[in-house]
Amino acid sequence: MRHPSVAVMSTVEAARCAAHPEASATTTCLRCGTFLCAACAQSAEGHALCGACLDRYAFAPDVSATARIALGLGLAGLVLGLAPGVVAWVLAERELQRIERGESPSGGRPLAMAARMLGWLCTALLVGAAGLTGLRLLSEE
Ligand SMILES: [Zn+2]
Ligand SMILES: [Zn+2]
Repeated sequence: MRHPSVAVMSTVEAARCAAHPEASATTTCLRCGTFLCAACAQSAEGHALCGACLDRYAFAPDVSATARIALGLGLAGLVLGLAPGVVAWVLAERELQRIERGESPSGGRPLAMAARMLGWLCTALLVGAAGLTGLRLLSEE
């Protein structure tokens, strides 16, 4: 009786590790498909990953769409004008509360906190700009 994975296994065995040409590959990276020897294969939650992909995996935890959008708006607020930054602040504040309650993935926390900082900055600049405009109008009278 032939095991269905024999053909696949023999392909992997014939291949060499990308980093160690002298070592035969025991598996492939789940993400990029690089051949890995036993020494190179890193395990992340049961998946074989190469070192580079593991780094990326570690730096890319689950992040909710809201956290991404809030950060995007915060950045947009700095670049395009300040109003999106105020929206970013509100979104980020809401997202942080959801993370605290466990309703959103905690990976979004740094993004939401960054978005809130940008939101504060935009709001402060907006208020400052309004204040300056007001002063200029007063001094022109
Ligand atoms: Zn990889
Ligand atoms: Zn290797």
